[in-house]
Amino acid sequence: MHLLFYRVLVRHSLAEAGVLESGNMSEVLIKDMKKVYDNSVTAVHDFNLHIADKEFIVLVGPSGCGKSTSLRMVAGLEDISGGELYIDGKLCNDIAAKDRDIAMVFQNYALYPHMSVYDNMAFALKLKKTPSDEIDKKVREVAEILDITQYLDRKPKALSGGQRQRVAIGRAMVRDPKVFLMDEPLSNLDAKLRNQMRAEIIKLRKRINTTFMYVTHDQTEAMTLGDRIVIMKDGYVNQIGTPQDLFDRPVNLFVAGFIGMPVMNFFEGCKLELKDGVYYANIKGEEFKLSDFQQKALKANGQQPCDIVAGIRPQHIRIGEGNLSGEVEVSEMLGSEVDLHVNCGGDDVVMVLQTVDLDQDVSIGAKVNFTTQPRLIQLFDKETGNNLIWYDAESVAANSPKCKDYDF
Ligand code: ADP
Repeated sequence: MHLLFYRVLVRHSLAEAGVLESGNMSEVLIKDMKKVYDNSVTAVHDFNLHIADKEFIVLVGPSGCGKSTSLRMVAGLEDISGGELYIDGKLCNDIAAKDRDIAMVFQNYALYPHMSVYDNMAFALKLKKTPSDEIDKKVREVAEILDITQYLDRKPKALSGGQRQRVAIGRAMVRDPKVFLMDEPLSNLDAKLRNQMRAEIIKLRKRINTTFMYVTHDQTEAMTLGDRIVIMKDGYVNQIGTPQDLFDRPVNLFVAGFIGMPVMNFFEGCKLELKDGVYYANIKGEEFKLSDFQQKALKANGQQPCDIVAGIRPQHIRIGEGNLSGEVEVSEMLGSEVDLHVNCGGDDVVMVLQTVDLDQDVSIGAKVNFTTQPRLIQLFDKETGNNLIWYDAESVAANSPKCKDYDF
């Protein structure tokens, strides 16, 4: 009794301080999780992930890659065909969704139209037969955090899309779930509201301080929200890492092309050359002597010369230097930056240039020469599409190529 009183007191002061602390520890461990639908489609292959307590994980990838299926298996809305799911060390494969201590927020909000905002938020607690004064306290506490107190008496139809989404989040929050699952929660909103809600989720996350698993097809959402991102394609996890891992060290062409805006430039018909023990990337006849860490990594892996696709991010191109050249076909002035499309021997090369640094003509039809720093060139095997340097989780997570002792 004494302990209970103390807990309530602590909760209360945390709530007053604006921190709605989920008292739960909430680690999720997913081992070789797999989904085979009845029609024998394998939607998810061997999904492995350890989500730390209070971590924000984003699942991202193109439509149909298996991200919703993965989330729904964690939620208990789909059976798990193989592998194991642990929430807080407890095997959950055969535990019903309602008993998993998770809460899910959907794209279409799924609010009850005939109930007020208050009743929508209170519904799950009523089902659990929570005393009404406790329900009231909880609903008001959460409404305060989400800034929807003034709408508690309204019906969902009298709310804007963003407000409805907040109610849907609030309805999940009142339950103090161990894990918060969100399936494309912002994709019904227009671009401006989406940006606003994204910022709100970042703030909210700090306040509710629990574990999140969030599905989106939008790389910007993934980059801005995730502590770590899981990027999937055709049912396979391609890479798991921090946003910076995925941006700087994509393990293959798919990840490199999916993450980053504008999309990374890929130069076809390139070669990795080896002369007198020194590696070069040959891009359209231009030789780039690779940096020390690239040399060491390639050497350590015994890399043989081969055909490659070279990747260069639009932000990593410098103009007015170097021997690659082309003609400006599109010039988009955005104020602080200008985005160019340059026709370089038939390839469309996109460059993002800072206007403060720009002292040359970049209007349509202008001839420009350009280059990049060799260390920023990504080298992909033409056959497999794999990155020759950052090719597995171990090399990326260690923040160094396969061999451990690299200095950057
Ligand atoms: P995403 O969320 O990445 O768009 P999904 O997880 O919804 O992808 O779907 C992954 C794959 O599983 C797709 O090929 C999809 O067609 C298939 N799929 C999804 N739901 C079902 C189902 N109920 N029955 C059969 N196949 C399904």
